[in-house]
Amino acid sequence: MEEIPPRLEFTVTLGDIIDSDSLKCLCMSFSRSYRIGVLVIDKFGEILIDVPYDNGFCEKVKALKSCHDNDCSLKDVIQTTTKSCFCGLRFKTADIKHQDEHLGQLVVGPYRMEEDQFSDDIKACLEAEERATGIENVKSDFEKINVETHANIDVIISGMLDVLSVVIQAGYARHLTSQIHIAAIQDAYNELTEKNRRLADSVEKLKDLDKLKSSFLATISHELRTPLTSVIGYSEMLIEGFAGELNAEQGEYAKTILDKGNHLLKIINEILEISKIESGSISLKEERFDVSELIRQVADAMMPQARKKDISLTYNAENGLPLLIADRPKVRQVLINLVSNAIKFTPAKGAVQLRASVNIRDEGHKGGSYIDLTVIDSGIGVEDHVREEIFEAFYQVDSSSTREYGGTGLGLSIVKHFVEAHGGKVWVENPGSDDRRGSLFIAQFPLKR
Ligand code: ADP
Repeated sequence: MEEIPPRLEFTVTLGDIIDSDSLKCLCMSFSRSYRIGVLVIDKFGEILIDVPYDNGFCEKVKALKSCHDNDCSLKDVIQTTTKSCFCGLRFKTADIKHQDEHLGQLVVGPYRMEEDQFSDDIKACLEAEERATGIENVKSDFEKINVETHANIDVIISGMLDVLSVVIQAGYARHLTSQIHIAAIQDAYNELTEKNRRLADSVEKLKDLDKLKSSFLATISHELRTPLTSVIGYSEMLIEGFAGELNAEQGEYAKTILDKGNHLLKIINEILEISKIESGSISLKEERFDVSELIRQVADAMMPQARKKDISLTYNAENGLPLLIADRPKVRQVLINLVSNAIKFTPAKGAVQLRASVNIRDEGHKGGSYIDLTVIDSGIGVEDHVREEIFEAFYQVDSSSTREYGGTGLGLSIVKHFVEAHGGKVWVENPGSDDRRGSLFIAQFPLKR
């Protein structure tokens, strides 16, 4: 079935579609040309334009109250198409319409016909009132009112209606356009509001799901860690010979179990750490410690990993480094993650350097003193367009690298959270400008007084 397009439905009034100044100019020019008063009334009886043309006669008559008993109102006149007032003057009215819709009335007058005269009663009354009030010349002013014929009045009315219909047509089109425009904006606004509401709902649902995911990961990781600790412990005991001497092949198998177990434990720990971060249950236990000592310990701990790839791992701490107030295990974790990445993404026989230096910046409110922990490697490097993304959870520049290098894509995200929790910042740069090989990670910790 063919769909019927929705109709624009709105009611218009003369005031909506015609500018009152232009309408007044129009009525005044008609009034002057035809020497007759013009009145425009909207469909609610509201007078929009009143251009009198009666030499002040009506005002005088209104002042002589006893002669007309307050019956000198245009309200009566506009009820009928032609009407004479009590003193014999005439008005003619016509409907103002647009597309069969009644918009108001046009009234022209007062005018008189050749034969119109004051009635004897009124004449007597006016003369008596004139004497009592000092208002003069009412009769002669009456005679100065324009004398018209029916044909003339019809010409005036139809001329005026023709011009009005052109003005109304233009105003109506303008009004219609603006109404359509408003309706379109309203529609777009409604649609946007609805989309916003749905978006907000989705965000809430996603937040809930995220919380659920974090708590699920935390539970699972915790459950996995317990048996894994036994796997690692027993394989260590086997290698140590607590269950009897192993032959070479058995020793290799036990070592593989231990290596894989440790790798699995690292992944589980990272997942646990990120779930803790995401659930907001991470807190800093700050202490004052020597960073040079920390980087020495980290370098020592990572040395076996570096040696396996014949990578030279060196470290250097600036002389006289101030003590850092921070959560030491977290700063250690930051360094471990950065150095282990550096070793992982650097080919055999490469170099990794660990440095600590003071950085005093003088940049207005962003100024201050920091300790920069820098890890430089001669590895595959990080391309410019992924420098921000690599710090997002589960992001890996090349997911096939998981197979080549191993990893979960969580290490840098943990680094970022830990550094930022201390009010610091972490980023990656190219160590050299000429080629993209190698990368330089800086974790910057603010020095507190
Ligand atoms: P993972 O190392 O477990 O994949 P990370 O969050 O530690 O996860 O690192 C995210 C990605 O950033 C890595 O997969 C790698 O593509 C890139 N990356 C991190 N460190 C380096 C580095 N030193 N050199 C080159 N690429 C790196």
